Amino acid sequence: MSRLAAVREAVGAAGIGALLLTPGADLRYVTGYDALPLERLTCLVVPAEGEAFIMVPRLEIPAAEHSPAARLGLEFVAWDETDDPYSVVAGRIGQVATIGLAERMWAMHSLRFRSVLPGAEQVLATSVLRGLRTRKSPAEAAALREAGAAIDAVHAQVPQFLKAGRTEREVGRDIAEAILAAGHATVDFVIVASGPNGASPHHELSDRVIQAGEPVVIDIGGQMPSGYCSDSTRVYCVGEPPADFAEYYEVLRRAQDAACEAVRPGVSCESIDAAAREVIAEAGYGDHFIHRTGHGIGLETHEEPYIVAGNTEPLAPGFAFSVEPGIYLSGRHGARIEDILICTEDGGERLNNRPRELVVV
Ligand code: ZN
Ligand code: ZN
Repeated sequence: MSRLAAVREAVGAAGIGALLLTPGADLRYVTGYDALPLERLTCLVVPAEGEAFIMVPRLEIPAAEHSPAARLGLEFVAWDETDDPYSVVAGRIGQVATIGLAERMWAMHSLRFRSVLPGAEQVLATSVLRGLRTRKSPAEAAALREAGAAIDAVHAQVPQFLKAGRTEREVGRDIAEAILAAGHATVDFVIVASGPNGASPHHELSDRVIQAGEPVVIDIGGQMPSGYCSDSTRVYCVGEPPADFAEYYEVLRRAQDAACEAVRPGVSCESIDAAAREVIAEAGYGDHFIHRTGHGIGLETHEEPYIVAGNTEPLAPGFAFSVEPGIYLSGRHGARIEDILICTEDGGERLNNRPRELVVV
């Protein structure tokens, strides 16, 4: 069954009048169209009854017609600069009770839909799509595997870039270039967190000069031409690490392994988080692990399922997510080890395979 057909079936099963998907990962998942997010409305409309269609600003029609969406037999409804595309959608779907909106639809679009469909309750399209998007198909798993290998190839080069006396920004520029050279279409993020900056999980590149003896947390990722994303963290040390750092790094490594080994179908998302957290807490670092253990990944770097306490959803084959526990000592240093895994019938398959020992450069 095509994705569009599967989505139409899911819309009906969810009791939603219509699904409205503006540019973003949901639209790309369903149609393959990587449309520009604009103030002009582009929107795939999947009604529970009747045919799906896509509203496209007339000037975007050539781009839409060159996209994979053109092969789906979808009607492209072109609208001109003086038309009101929201009213066109409302006129076609009628006064339905519920509409499902893409999670990242801009407020300017969702509010216009509210005004033309005042009787329709707005819910997130995620309720319809998450079951499809979290369970990766073999083709999606292959695309994620390719993304994992590409970012591993970048980590393999990091020791060449990392030297005492260079700034985080200089190292970050080299890494960004390597991310593109490894086959990514875009660089999504480059975290080079040296010394005390390593204690800030989402540290932004700075002009701080990396010193000898400092651990450096490197968390990098990009989007492949396929749309699928990479995301992997390794820790490097410029020279010999401080003794206390080396000690908790080993705790972290055991925690990350424990969580990866716990992955198998039927096990809850929160139990993967607990597997990592237990090891860290037992070693006395529980208060220093300040975030969830992981997030789903696919066409977005962060998507369902979240590997966090409270998420009782059982893992199933095809679920893809990160396992990235961290230990952060404020003002001193920090560490995180991150791999992407896919849940298979036999357990977790790691898509990142660079050595997880502390790399001394
Ligand atoms: Zn990451
Ligand atoms: Zn991550």
